[in-house]
Amino acid sequence: MIYRVDAYVGLGSNLDAPIAQVRRALDELGKLPLTESIGASRLYVTRPVGPQDQPDFINAVAHLSTHLSPLALLDQLQALEQRHRRRRIRHWGPRTLDLDLLVYGNETLQLPRLNVPHPQMKVRGFVLLPLAELAPRLRLPDGSHVGALAKALGTTDGVEVLPDNLG
Ligand code: ATP
Ligand code: CA
Ligand code: CA
Repeated sequence: MIYRVDAYVGLGSNLDAPIAQVRRALDELGKLPLTESIGASRLYVTRPVGPQDQPDFINAVAHLSTHLSPLALLDQLQALEQRHRRRRIRHWGPRTLDLDLLVYGNETLQLPRLNVPHPQMKVRGFVLLPLAELAPRLRLPDGSHVGALAKALGTTDGVEVLPDNLG
């Protein structure tokens, strides 16, 4: 069995009651086999990347501690997406649940099914803001510092913490 690894998972939803989708998924991530939930960011409301004619997203990041290998964890994340009846209508279009493996310990992997750290994470406010809230001192395998990456974003327009009274 693989020794315990800290993993960070990005969650997103903009269909079928997204706040509830993300809350439920956060709960379910902590129940994956050989995996424990260490914490989660608050929920964020974010404007979509790509096609703009779709609802805002709810995003969050979860911190897991897992004995699963990277691909076994990806399998679990994809199965969880399916349990949320994920429908994929078009690329970067609306979805009930998207789970991206952002970081898996200090590993850099370029496999057909899995790129880790997630290749887009350094330029996405909807990933970096919740991740920096959760793990400001985290460093990526290339040495970059999550808190600094979040600060270096040109703009955080379109990424806001979900107001309490909506949760
Ligand atoms: P993006 O990756 O730009 O956020 P997306 O989340 O919309 O786009 P998907 O359609 O959810 O992309 O996933 C496409 C494929 O990406 C998946 O089948 C999966 O095998 C692969 N993939 C590669 N790296 C990762 C990763 N780090 N986390 C999740 N899936 C990944
Ligand atoms: Ca994604
Ligand atoms: Ca994805």
